[in-house]
Amino acid sequence: MSANAPATGAPELIVVMRASATAEEVQHVVSLIEEAGAGVHVDEGGEGTVIGAIGDRAIVAGLPLEAVAGVERVVPLRKEYKRVSREFRSRDTVVRIGTAEVGGGRFAMMAGPCSIESHEQTLAAAEAVKAAGGAVLRGGAYKPRTSPYAFQGLGVEGLRILRAVGDEVGLPVTTELMDARDLADVVEHVDMIWIGARNMQNFNLLSEVGRSGKPVMLKRGMSATVEELLMAAEYVAKGGCDDVILCERGIRTFEKATRFTLDVSAIPVLKAETHLPVIVDPSHAAGKRSLVLPLALAAVAAGADGLIVETHPTPEHALSDAAQQIPAAEFGAFVQDVERLVQVSGRTPSR
Ligand code: PEP
Ligand code: MN
Repeated sequence: MSANAPATGAPELIVVMRASATAEEVQHVVSLIEEAGAGVHVDEGGEGTVIGAIGDRAIVAGLPLEAVAGVERVVPLRKEYKRVSREFRSRDTVVRIGTAEVGGGRFAMMAGPCSIESHEQTLAAAEAVKAAGGAVLRGGAYKPRTSPYAFQGLGVEGLRILRAVGDEVGLPVTTELMDARDLADVVEHVDMIWIGARNMQNFNLLSEVGRSGKPVMLKRGMSATVEELLMAAEYVAKGGCDDVILCERGIRTFEKATRFTLDVSAIPVLKAETHLPVIVDPSHAAGKRSLVLPLALAAVAAGADGLIVETHPTPEHALSDAAQQIPAAEFGAFVQDVERLVQVSGRTPSR
C-alpha cells in the first residue's frame, strides 16, 4: 500500500518538455497526470517547461508520458528529498527577501545583533549593516539559550523593534521562530523566518513555516548530516514554499578550539545536491570574533551564496554571544574584505 495520497505525495518524476512544446502540449501532459489521480507542479522558468508529477509512485511511474507530443524526456526522481533536489530543478533558485536576492550568482550579506536588546542597540547595529552594504538585518527576539536563566529575548517587543529599525534604515529583516505559537506574530513583523539549529528536525514547526508564505532560512542542526538537512528542507518545501535557504553554521566534533567546526565541505556538497541557495554563519561556528573573517572567506571561496554574521555596537555589553559579535564600527571593513573575494569569484553582492 502506498503511504502517499496523491495530493500530499512526493514528486516522483519530472517531465521535461521540448523548448518547442506548445501550451496545448503542456496542458495535455498536465491533464494526463491529473486524470491518473496525481498532482502536478509546473515550472516555467529556465530552459523550458518542467512538469513535476506528484503522487503515488505506482500510478505516476506507469504513465506512458515519454510518447506524448512535446515531451523531451521523463526523469524519475531517485533521491529521498524531491522538491529541493537538483534532479527536480537543475537551475539555481533565487530567493527574494524584500529587496534582497540570494542564489543564482547573487550574494547576500545578512547581519545584525545576536539578540534584539533595545531600539537603540538594534538601530546602531542596523546602521552599520546598511552603511557596509548589507542586504538583510538579522536579530533574535526568541532566543534558544542553553541556560533557562540566560536572557531569553524580548519576544513580540523585539519583533516590533526589528521591524521598526528595518524600515528606518531600509533593510528587510529576519528573525528566528522557535515555537509555532509565535508564528502569526513573526509573520506579521519579518520578511524571512529562520529556523535555528536546535529546531532543524522539529518537523511540525518546519511544516508550519512552509505554509506561512514567507521565505524560510533553515540552519543545519549541530549534529545533523547534510542529508538530514535536505530532508528537513523538504518538509518546508512540501508545504508549498519554494523560497528556502540552507545555512551551514558549524557542527559538533571533538575539536574544542572553535565553538563548532565549520563544515566547509557541506557547501559544495549541498550546491550539487540542491537548487536552493546555501549560506554560512561563520559567527556561531567560530565562537570568537577573530575567527569570523577567515571562516567567512573560506565559505565564500567554497561557493556560499551569502553569509549571516553577528554584529553589535558594543559586543562587550551584549546579552548573548558577546565573544563572537563583530563591533559595529569594524563591520564595514569586514564586509569589504569579504566582498573582494565575492567579486573575484564572479558573484554580485545583493543590496
Ligand atoms: C542564531 O543565529 O542566533 C542562533 C542561535 O544560531 P544557531 O541556531 O545556529 O545556534
Ligand atoms: Mn548568537
